[in-house]
Parts: sequence; structure tokens; C-alpha cells
Amino acid sequence: MTHAAGRRPRMNGGLVHAEAGVASPKVARFAAMHDLEGAEFLAGVPGCVGGALAMNAGCYGGETWDIVERVATIDRSGTMTERARSEFEIGYRHCAPQGAREEWFAAAWFRLEPGDGETSRGVMKELLARRIATQPLSLPNAGSVFRNPPKDHAARLIESCGLKGFGRGGARVSEKHANFIVNPQGAARAADIEWLIQHIQRMVYQMKGIVLQTEVRIVGEPE
Ligand SMILES: Cc1cc2nc3c(=O)[nH]c(=O)nc-3n(C[C@H](O)[C@H](O)[C@H](O)COP(=O)(O)OP(=O)(O)OC[C@H]3O[C@@H](n4cnc5c(N)ncnc54)[C@H](O)[C@@H]3O)c2cc1C
Repeated sequence: MTHAAGRRPRMNGGLVHAEAGVASPKVARFAAMHDLEGAEFLAGVPGCVGGALAMNAGCYGGETWDIVERVATIDRSGTMTERARSEFEIGYRHCAPQGAREEWFAAAWFRLEPGDGETSRGVMKELLARRIATQPLSLPNAGSVFRNPPKDHAARLIESCGLKGFGRGGARVSEKHANFIVNPQGAARAADIEWLIQHIQRMVYQMKGIVLQTEVRIVGEPE
């Protein structure tokens, strides 16, 4: 059973505290409500705080771990530990514990700067509008498929290989944003999407000499 209070952020010692199951956009809205700035970018990132920490989710110049003061982790025996940012290796869409630890995120404390709620709400509105204008949010998708290679954009490379709209089975490269694979009828199989991912990687490598790395994590065994 989910504890209702655990689904909402709260103020704790001047920091915003959120359990791993809190939706990331709620952190952004809660911060604005308390006239704190720096979490606006989370407003459009689907998912929860646990996933945002594990992926170092980010966009429009902000990343989750930029604003993390510390986290609480839990291990298999149920032991909770508070850990500082310095105890993790943080990178682009990457977070791994320093040393071999098998733990999961239970909560995070975010350190944000004093700001103005009205301004933050304006920034969030603008970022959400930009997303709606540029991403295929009305169709089922899993977000950006590939990481942006240094100094370039995966979407630009895919588009310039003529792959916008290219599909297999029920899956196709979004016409709106080439770094998204959409499943318009909900009929695509995982195998179609994985094939399409590999096809894009092959074509971009052949035509541009660049190896695209996936940003999505593929779980389970390939067919
Ligand atoms: C339309 C759309 C837009 C998106 N835009 C962005 C974007 O702008 N920027 C961006 O970075 N991402 C984006 N994403 C990807 C995704 O929203 C983020 O990666 C998000 O932070 C994932 O959160 P989640 O709760 O869904 O995690 P999941 O997808 O469920 O999990 C992601 C990973 O985190 C691990 N994980 C989850 N919870 C925990 C935990 N408590 N402890 C340890 N590990 C855990 C999982 O095992 C998995 O490996 C987008 C996705 C979609 C569908």
C-alpha cells in the first residue's frame, strides 16, 4: 500500500525532500510553490524521482543531480542509508554508485535557490509548450531513444539519413522528432522497436560514421 504522504514532496531543513515514488513534475511544481528555483526542467520529464536519479534525467540545460544535496538508499535487507552526491559517479544520463553497492534510491533532498514562484511557473509553461511543439507527446513512445553524441544531436543525424517516418511493424521513427520511436496504433512489438533501433544505428554509422548509443535501457531478452 502506498503511503499518501510519500507521494508528495515536502520541505525539510530548507531542502525539498521527495521520496523515490514522487512524480518528477511534482517536485518542479512544489519548488515553484515555495519560491525556489532550479527544478523547472523536471516539469516535463515523465516518471518519478527514483528513475530521474538513476538516469540523471535532464533537459534544457538542467540535470537531476545538479540539484541533489543527498539521497536515501535502501538495500536488499531493508537498511536505509543517507548518501552524499560525492558517493556516486554522475554523468550524462548516468548515475552509478562509487564502489560495488547494491542499493536503490528511496528519496532525495534537493537544494534549490531562492527565486520567484511566478517566474518559475512561467519557465515551466514555456518548457512544456516547447515540448508539445517539438515532441510526439500524443503518441505512445519511450522518450529520446539515443543519447546526443558530443556536439551534435541524434535527431539531426537520423533525419539527415532520411529516416523520419521510416517504420517496421507498428513502430516508426517520429515525423515530429527523429529521436523518438512512436507506436501509433499500439501494435508494435518490442522486436520491431529493437530492430528499428539497430537499423537506425547501422544507417547513421554507414552514412555519418557516428555510433549512436541508446539512451533507453532495454530490459529482458531479445527475441
Ligand atoms: C515523452 C517522454 C519524454 C521524456 N523526456 C525526457 C527528458 O527530457 N529528459 C530525460 O532525461 N528523460 C526523458 N524521458 C525519459 C524518462 O522520462 C526519464 O528517464 C525518467 O527520469 C525515468 O523515470 P521513471 O520513473 O519512468 O523510471 P523508469 O523508466 O521506470 O526507470 C529508469 C531506470 O531507472 C531505474 N530506477 C527506477 N527507479 C529507481 C530507484 N528507485 N532506484 C534505483 N534505480 C531506479 C530503473 O531500473 C531503470 O533502469 C522522457 C520519456 C518520455 C516517455
